[in-house]
Amino acid sequence: MAGILFIISAPSGSGKSTLVSQLRTLVAGLDFSISYTTRAPRGSEENGREYYFISREEFERMVARGDFLEWAEVFGNYYGTAMSALDHAREAGRDLLLDIDVQGAVQVMNKLPAAVSIFILPPSPQVLEMRLRNRSMAEHVTSEAVIEGRLAEARNELKRIDDYKYALVNDVLEQAVAEMRAIVLFERGEREGTQELAASCRTDAASQRLKSAL
Ligand code: 5GP
Repeated sequence: MAGILFIISAPSGSGKSTLVSQLRTLVAGLDFSISYTTRAPRGSEENGREYYFISREEFERMVARGDFLEWAEVFGNYYGTAMSALDHAREAGRDLLLDIDVQGAVQVMNKLPAAVSIFILPPSPQVLEMRLRNRSMAEHVTSEAVIEGRLAEARNELKRIDDYKYALVNDVLEQAVAEMRAIVLFERGEREGTQELAASCRTDAASQRLKSAL
């Protein structure tokens, strides 16, 4: 049986990584696609765990060979999802989670309309700005122009929310994790106990609730 493809996107500053790692400990049978990137590893990141870190030349060769389901340039680096990640999950009948940016998500939605897309929002524009500034500081990025660029990029990404099936606000972590879990279980057909929470996260239904985060 073919698994479900889940796409998660969040503008940087939405606090997605903790959310995704908690979800993976709570929901079984969910594979995480490890993307290829040309950016350098950060902190304790390891090749083959967070990403496959490759050179621009290697990445371009993979693009030319048609190895990617989708790829995009984000903040000056390439990121891409290998077709092989999808093939492996399909063969094993497991669900696959893609953590990709809006440009990549749109490519996947067009190629695979059955994919279930989830957009993660920061609690408010102020929190988004604060998180982005903190991250920039941690990366020793001091240029106001670079920070402004990241902010503008995040605001642009927020405008694509209506392309996604679900949207949730990452304010209280436990709540956001519970919502993600409900969405995954609901989409798997485990309606009982998940219906209400999953339905409240439908982007069309939740648009009023989401306005304050935008
Ligand atoms: P970071 O460098 O902070 O890990 O990721 C930067 C952005 O790239 C995030 O928005 C993340 O979702 C996105 N990203 C990570 N992997 C992929 C990928 O394979 N494809 C695309 N299109 N975006 C990705």
